[in-house]
Amino acid sequence: MASMSIATGTMKVAQVSAPGKPLQIVERRIPEPGAQEVRIKVQACGVCHSDALTKEGFWPGIQYPRVPGHEAAGIIDELGAGVSEWTPGQRAGVGWHGGHDGTCLWCRRGDFRNCRNVKIAGISYDGGYQQYMLAPVEALTAIPEGLKDAEAAPLLCAGITTFNALRHSGALPGDLVAVQGVGGLGHLGIQFAHKFGYRVAAIGRGPGNAALAKKLGANVYIDSKATNAAAELQKLGGAQVILSTAPSSKAMSEVIDGLGPNGKLMVIGAAFDPIEVTPVQLITGSRAIQGWTSGTPADAEDTLRFAELTGVRPMIETYPLEKAAEAYARMMSGEAKYRVVLTM
Ligand SMILES: [Zn+2]
Ligand SMILES: [Zn+2]
Repeated sequence: MASMSIATGTMKVAQVSAPGKPLQIVERRIPEPGAQEVRIKVQACGVCHSDALTKEGFWPGIQYPRVPGHEAAGIIDELGAGVSEWTPGQRAGVGWHGGHDGTCLWCRRGDFRNCRNVKIAGISYDGGYQQYMLAPVEALTAIPEGLKDAEAAPLLCAGITTFNALRHSGALPGDLVAVQGVGGLGHLGIQFAHKFGYRVAAIGRGPGNAALAKKLGANVYIDSKATNAAAELQKLGGAQVILSTAPSSKAMSEVIDGLGPNGKLMVIGAAFDPIEVTPVQLITGSRAIQGWTSGTPADAEDTLRFAELTGVRPMIETYPLEKAAEAYARMMSGEAKYRVVLTM
């Protein structure tokens, strides 16, 4: 575990000074929370592939220097003016949904997840790659007692994304649900799908992940290199839902024919090239393709409590904050097993 000597009133942060620049450790003053904000003493922060948006400047309008991190777990240590629902010493986290305005049309419809002015931790404001962070009160997720900080952190983005996509997919207990990709998202998706009571088919490339997928709760493992995954799913009756976690449009295109009647491809692996599908593939069996993004802090609390209750846990590799650049490189390599987490 890292220990840092910090002068009174200052803290260590891992920041990106400009798009494409490396993560650097610098000292800053510990910030004071404004109205409707809290200060969190960060204990752990996950390193997510979406942090590349901050690191490389892919998200329009980011102001630099910027501290990435939207999987932050810690302890509230200071309240700003007007905050009444939280107390210092309480464990809290901040995920991808880093705040909303409460006034736009979507917020007025109660759809905070799709707020037109949604804020994202580590993009709109400094995130969790630091010892202390500020967060708007509406972005806070309470962390249950049974989860360690380093376990809770990846559940605030990777976890909620798989949990929320599955629970909104329409699949019912006993349905065949395929999880495509056994990686940072997929290893959580398989666990949630299993605990939801689905018949789970894990789809991976090569035989390497078969044993792990079974251990995480998959009933069937399909090696998409050795077999035609869509045909294998049809042999099982056709999937009600395929949760596509691997950011490969080609792999997604290949499994669409594995959907059963009224089946749905749930897309959460972020790729930029097009998915290929013909209208006839969708018309036959009334199939659908849907994307899903994260969820609100209330959804995150559901995710954490469900994980606490059922034993779903991320598999993690931890690095001290000082090694943020190394941790980021490890995450980007695709070799991490399976989520990288910074500890403060
Ligand atoms: Zn993320
Ligand atoms: Zn809004």
